[in-house]
Amino acid sequence: MQLIDGKATAAAIKAEIAEEVKEILAAGGKQPHLAAVLVGHDGGSETYVKNKVIACEQCGFKSTLIRYEDDVTEEELLLCVDRLNKDSDVDGFIVQLPLPKHIDEQKIIMAIDYRKDVDGFHPINVGRMAIGLPCFISATPLGIITLLKHYGIETSGKKCVVLGRSNIVGKPMAQLMMQKNFGDATVTVCHSHSKDLKKECFEADIIIAAIGRPNFVTADMVKDGAVIVDVGTTRVPDATRKSGFRLNGDVKFDEVAQKCSFITPVPGGVGPMTICSLMKNTLAAGKKEYYK
Ligand code: NAP
Repeated sequence: MQLIDGKATAAAIKAEIAEEVKEILAAGGKQPHLAAVLVGHDGGSETYVKNKVIACEQCGFKSTLIRYEDDVTEEELLLCVDRLNKDSDVDGFIVQLPLPKHIDEQKIIMAIDYRKDVDGFHPINVGRMAIGLPCFISATPLGIITLLKHYGIETSGKKCVVLGRSNIVGKPMAQLMMQKNFGDATVTVCHSHSKDLKKECFEADIIIAAIGRPNFVTADMVKDGAVIVDVGTTRVPDATRKSGFRLNGDVKFDEVAQKCSFITPVPGGVGPMTICSLMKNTLAAGKKEYYK
């Protein structure tokens, strides 16, 4: 079994991005600028946004963090999105999800200028990705594809099972894995209504688990030599940690690791690659790579 080291892979890619930014600046170009909007004080969101700001520094980007309290109105948030859309210094921005219940997430996503939508959540980017046109691709699936490529893992013609069908992970992941001249895999998507998940998983060459159910994928669901990508990051109580919790993946790591050919750890697998992909998207936004 080989451990897929997302932390090291992401560090190497961020170093490449930093080099490119240096070249851009040396040639008199503009420093890429990512803005992040954070609503409330959810522990997970605070951590993600903090890590995004750190990654911007590592890549040589300018970053701006805009904070609102939980009671921000939808109207105020839409005005903020409008300001960021119009700010010519901001190349790309994200509104950290989830948002409080009184705010319609889709409405906020739809209001973001798709040319600055570095999370790749706007329907224009989602649609372009589905038909294989250049666009901002959702960071987690893009990070997973980058990891698989980095480790030379063949996907063409393989049977891939994606567990989960969310708009930000499961669906785009399945699209990319089936995409012609991209994943080229035969893809099965499983969700809470799927029957006989064990059988589906057991037949898979590649399992990508994104359901948020700790230790869901057990050794008896995995065939020998399969490739396992664990997207799950559920906080579970852990009295031995200062924070009082640890992150747990969707895969029962110890027993599954014995059977598979490659596996991503949690943490240190998909998570760092997600942030790294956001940096890639921001660089592309700065270079106006997909949209003028
Ligand atoms: P989500 O929106 O909650 O979607 C979960 C999906 O899993 C849904 O499609 C759901 O099915 C399915 N599901 C839930 N329980 C199931 C079960 N027992 N059997 C089969 N399918 C089941 O979650 P998400 O945003 O995609 O995130 C999934 C996990 O990845 C979470 O742990 C999240 O924290 C993590 N995540 C990690 C990163 C990272 O960078 N590492 C990034 C994003 C997300 P239905 O559609 O039928 O409800």
